[in-house]
Amino acid sequence: MSGLKAGLKIALLVLGAAMLGWIYGYTATAVMITLSAVICFWLYEIDKVQRWLSDPEQNVPDTSGICSDLLALIYFHQRKSDQVQAQLQSTIEYMQSSLAVIRDGVVMVGEDGIIAWFNRSAEPLLGLRYPEDTGQRLTNLVRGPEFADYFLAQDYSEPLQFEATGGGEKVFLRVEITHFGEGDRVLFIRDVSDSVRMEKMRSDFVANVSHELRTPLTVITGYLGTIEANGEDLPQRYRRPLNQMGQQAHRMESVLHDLLWLSKIESGQSARMDEAVDIGGLLQELRDELGDAYPKATLLLELSSKRSVIGSYQQLYSAVSNLVINAIKYSGENSAVTISWFEEHDKSKLSVSDAGIGIDAVHLPRLTERFYRVDDSRNSATGGTGLGLAIVKHVAAAHGARLLIESRIGEGSTFSLIFSSGG
Ligand code: ADP
Repeated sequence: MSGLKAGLKIALLVLGAAMLGWIYGYTATAVMITLSAVICFWLYEIDKVQRWLSDPEQNVPDTSGICSDLLALIYFHQRKSDQVQAQLQSTIEYMQSSLAVIRDGVVMVGEDGIIAWFNRSAEPLLGLRYPEDTGQRLTNLVRGPEFADYFLAQDYSEPLQFEATGGGEKVFLRVEITHFGEGDRVLFIRDVSDSVRMEKMRSDFVANVSHELRTPLTVITGYLGTIEANGEDLPQRYRRPLNQMGQQAHRMESVLHDLLWLSKIESGQSARMDEAVDIGGLLQELRDELGDAYPKATLLLELSSKRSVIGSYQQLYSAVSNLVINAIKYSGENSAVTISWFEEHDKSKLSVSDAGIGIDAVHLPRLTERFYRVDDSRNSATGGTGLGLAIVKHVAAAHGARLLIESRIGEGSTFSLIFSSGG
């Protein structure tokens, strides 16, 4: 029943009472008594509704008129909201039960860094205990400065791989964090110890093989050198093969040298990483040295930044020299190579540009792989080892820098090392 109908009903009641009162000569008294009765009745009905609202578990009260309509509406909305809540609850339970059984650790953390929920797999990985640790600050429970720095920095564009402290055998974890809701975060944690161990075995194997091959190769090149030195005593038919053997032996030496250097950079044993490297000075030295080694090349130096980089002079020198030698190798004899060191926004950029043959875009994603070649004939003509850019990539990673390659066939290439902050 609408409010209008109820109002009409009351008006009729009051009118009836007034008429009755008028017949008996008590119009005002009759109207007042009727109104008071109506008010008392409504107060009684409202009281029933209020009691039910304060404890909706009890039976819906029997009311009449507008209160009954009101009650029906409230009841209807309450049922609806109960249904929605039940649906939400079952969705959450479904999500949680599916996350609970996956092998990766999953942790949900609030804006304040407090753990809201974690699955069973997260317990052994992060050393968490259920239920005590829900409600605790995550960084208090997961030890390791690397993790805390990463978590608090809030830049989760790249996953973090770190060594979990404590326990016997070394455990390496990979963490990916995603923001959701209003400042909440979900962490996916995976044990990557096996792949880290495999990667270490692979790199140790390459380093050991390279090391073992060096001695026999030194003997071979030594003898080849002696034979070549007495070349005039040799019959003509041996000279060409011996010459080729010498060339290939030297190429092998360069490959082994680069492989060993790469292993050292990868394992972090190559050099001190805490030097303040004056990039301007490094580039000047490199320009002078390569200028002597490649007298026909034009090397232009553009230094507009004075920033230094914290890391290893030796590694950075080798990376930039690989880039510059490539630029010389893959450009025409007369073309210029520009080496620049400048600042762009909050980054520092070390770029090596040439106007050489350029690289097709399809090769760019794989260019820094070991022994990846754009074109084998190109490689044998330039005598490279196929490891130069792999070295550059690893040096960049060891210095927290990014290697950016821009190139166009027939127009040239620019290789840039982008450092997020200078020293
Ligand atoms: P390489 O010893 O063969 O030069 P790198 O790892 O240094 O090995 O380079 C990989 C490949 O990338 C090269 O074989 C070459 O095809 C291509 N490349 C590298 N730098 C340049 C450049 N400046 N211009 C054109 N191609 C390049």
